[in-house]
Amino acid sequence: MYLRCLFFALSIAVLSGCAQAGQRPAAVAAIEQRQAVTILISIDGFRPDYLKRGVTPNLNALARDGIEAPMQPSFPTKTFPNHWAIVTGKRPDRSGIVANNMEDASRPGEKFTMASDDPYWWNEAEPIWVTAEKAGMRTATMFWPGSNVAWGGNVQKDWPYRLVGGTRPSDWAQFNQEISGVQRVNGILDLLRRPANIRPHFLTLYFNAVDTAGHEYGPDAAETAKAVSEVDGQIGMLVEGLNALRQPANLVIISDHGMAAKSSERVVPLDQVANPADYRIVESGPYASLTALRGHEAALEASILKPRPHMQCWRKGTIPARFHYGTHRRIPPYFCLAETGWLIQPSAPAKPFAGGDHGWDNRSPEMQALFIAHGPAFDPRFRPPTDFANVDVYPLLARLLGVAAAAGDGDPKALEGLVRK
Ligand code: AMP
Ligand code: ZN
Ligand code: ZN
Repeated sequence: MYLRCLFFALSIAVLSGCAQAGQRPAAVAAIEQRQAVTILISIDGFRPDYLKRGVTPNLNALARDGIEAPMQPSFPTKTFPNHWAIVTGKRPDRSGIVANNMEDASRPGEKFTMASDDPYWWNEAEPIWVTAEKAGMRTATMFWPGSNVAWGGNVQKDWPYRLVGGTRPSDWAQFNQEISGVQRVNGILDLLRRPANIRPHFLTLYFNAVDTAGHEYGPDAAETAKAVSEVDGQIGMLVEGLNALRQPANLVIISDHGMAAKSSERVVPLDQVANPADYRIVESGPYASLTALRGHEAALEASILKPRPHMQCWRKGTIPARFHYGTHRRIPPYFCLAETGWLIQPSAPAKPFAGGDHGWDNRSPEMQALFIAHGPAFDPRFRPPTDFANVDVYPLLARLLGVAAAAGDGDPKALEGLVRK
């Protein structure tokens, strides 16, 4: 921060010097030596093998000159739990964001959806931008799940209904899918065009187009490759814009999970496995989470806990340890996971469908996530450990920003060698 102010002051000094000497102030722009910023970029649903489809020249160049490796997402392989794990270093079971849709016994009648910004749901894990802001560093988000939340605050439910306290990034924007990828990139570049005293040092950028196409058409479709190519072009625009500004940047490009093909031919209809009078479904799809209706626990357990084709169910406390999932109060009492590519649905599909989805086993090859690091802070000779976890990214970000990392689920050693000494 101080360094940047110094450069700003120097620029002004040079500007007046130039003016006195009758030179053009245009020379000044080249004088400010910008400090490297960190930009965390998420391409939702980008499977690492999309890099091999011949449509990603910009990402391939960053991978070639930087570091690229597949990264293991956290379980469940859904958008909100994984984005929150990356910026907090805590897996969903500990971060509070255990799913895209949640219930909480402490908030009867309320439901968390991807539109929920009540800090209550988010306050269990501090995101890196809050840590940075508290340390006096300016941050900006051009979307990221949870970045519109006044973190640490609370909503006073009694009249007058109002939000009390909390910290947001200095610059943030309400998520809107209609804001194009190009507009998002221009938003980031505009933030970096600001005078040094109000310029962010840490930024996030989020693209949904690849995930959206992957859901609609499936991971192998031409339409998905087109979305991949478009986002790659927008990454190219960002790199070009940064170069034009002479803005050095450490880019950490990730995805939250991969994508697998789905089909109406691969559905487990729950009402044919158990008696619908015994349960209520909280979420369904690649996994289903259920509660038993009062007094129907034994009947439900008798039908779902025995081996079933294409899916396995557990009481929440007995989900295998490798998933690190099942202790949080927001996880419903019963959890069923489908074989990758299969869906658990309330009943048999009424009409045929295809496309893609995610949420399955975080060890499935199709669910693996993207990781690319490129910038002056990184040692391109570094090779990340195989299957490093997305919670390992948080200590890396803390290191890049020079803020103290909170104790989390990630291994601070996993990506330690990535940052040059
Ligand atoms: P998923 O259902 O896991 O595939 O979620 C992906 C979707 O999450 C995207 O297509 C977006 O519409 C939505 N999304 C992503 N970021 C946000 C956000 N910050 N706020 C609300 N919705 C979001
Ligand atoms: Zn996602
Ligand atoms: Zn998705």
